[in-house]
Amino acid sequence: MWNPSVVNDDLLKASLLDLYEQAPAGYVFTAPGGEILRVNAAMERLTGYSADELTARRLQDLLTIGGKIFYENQYSPLLRMQGVVDEIAFDFVQPDGTRVPVLMNAVLRLDEAGQPALIAATVFSARSRRSYELELLQERIRADRLADVVRASIDAVVTCSPNGGVQDWNAAAERMFGHDADALRRLHLRDLLSFDRGTEYGGVMASLVAGVPVSVETSAIATDGATLDVSVSLTPHLDEVGSVDSISAIIRDVTERRAIERLQHEFLAMASHELRTPLAVIRGQSQVMRRRRSYSETHLDTIIDQTRRLARLIDDLLTASEMEADRFGLHVAEIDIVPMVRSVCRQFGSEEREIGVRTPDEAVVPVDRHRLEQALSNLLTNAVKYSSHSAAIEVSLHLDDREAAIEVTDHGMGIGPDDVSHLFERFYRAPNVVEHVKGTGLGLYITRRIMEAHGGRIDVTSDPGRGSTFALRFPVTIGCKSTAVPAQ
Ligand code: ADP
Repeated sequence: MWNPSVVNDDLLKASLLDLYEQAPAGYVFTAPGGEILRVNAAMERLTGYSADELTARRLQDLLTIGGKIFYENQYSPLLRMQGVVDEIAFDFVQPDGTRVPVLMNAVLRLDEAGQPALIAATVFSARSRRSYELELLQERIRADRLADVVRASIDAVVTCSPNGGVQDWNAAAERMFGHDADALRRLHLRDLLSFDRGTEYGGVMASLVAGVPVSVETSAIATDGATLDVSVSLTPHLDEVGSVDSISAIIRDVTERRAIERLQHEFLAMASHELRTPLAVIRGQSQVMRRRRSYSETHLDTIIDQTRRLARLIDDLLTASEMEADRFGLHVAEIDIVPMVRSVCRQFGSEEREIGVRTPDEAVVPVDRHRLEQALSNLLTNAVKYSSHSAAIEVSLHLDDREAAIEVTDHGMGIGPDDVSHLFERFYRAPNVVEHVKGTGLGLYITRRIMEAHGGRIDVTSDPGRGSTFALRFPVTIGCKSTAVPAQ
């Protein structure tokens, strides 16, 4: 049985002393000037000195230089003034140079005359607290950096509540949707994205609320009602108990990519048709001659015509792919281009329509003969394609001391002002011709690139319903690039 009488003052004092000695915190008594009078075991561990070594030192001499200056100029006077100073951070410097971060609480005891007699200080290791603070700081820096990335992103980033109410967004979102901050705050994800293309809104939200990220290709709806093709990554964010507390949406404008994909798709369909048609004509005409066992100039002319058409098409396809792969280059030589211009025009003439040609007697210029011929053939192909059978076509060649110009004028359907600025883009075809006249949308693109490689250009004037003039212009002195020309 425990006997209460054994607990006397002596036992309590001895226990207190044990508590003091064995405490996990450091305890130190110093004289008012900092001279150490007594320390416990934890102080030995924190400072790296034995109790004996410590009693020969001053507390402030165990600190870093900055700490010592602070101790003497701020800490000590404050302690004298207030009698108590709590939770001041210092670093002890151990004999091997190791720094130990600590927090110090001190109390100043006065003697009977009210003079400073003793300082009692409690010292806690702040190692874990410091590293925790450091981690927090690094985490904040990381978060700030990430926020910078989101702010500067060209993709729209929007965060929403679990029911889709818009909460936050970046500048790209304001640009993409055309709403200001006030309007966006009142909107719903459903107002910004259209969820009709096989991705029904309810299903998307159900996946997100179940914690499953969703990627959709859909369209974004801007204030003015315009829509953009977008690809959207939706991610649910969970709180500590695992329920979705917000949803983020990264929205990328893919309108341009989609347009190119569409054009490429149309182009492939059309190119295979364009290749098959002349082949079918050639086969048909040859079979007729064979069946009849007779030689026909008309059939042969058609066959020759179609082989030319095939050759031109294949040439265009190869040139465009060389241009795209940066393998396009010129072989330039000084030649008289008059015979070439005349010969190409002859090829495009027919019984119903001769091509009117006006040239000087001679025009010696530095050009890639084959490429210039290709450019002129493209213009004549179009002049024939986009005019009626008998409408006149004129070709003229002018030369001054700076520039040569080959102009092709037709009296055909002409080109609307909206289309003129796009004519020289790859695969572009004016909407009014797509259904009626076959073509690849490559001819003028190739022609422009050929002329640019010569240091020249192509320009057009057109009067819808009345006809167009395309002009190939290039310098008469060597100004062209004869090496590979980068794709644009
Ligand atoms: P393609 O003729 O194979 O479609 P091009 O690149 O040669 O491709 O021409 C692009 C577009 O420019 C044509 O689809 C047509 O809409 C327009 N175009 C070109 N030349 C003419 C022309 N002489 N008259 C009217 N439209 C033309």
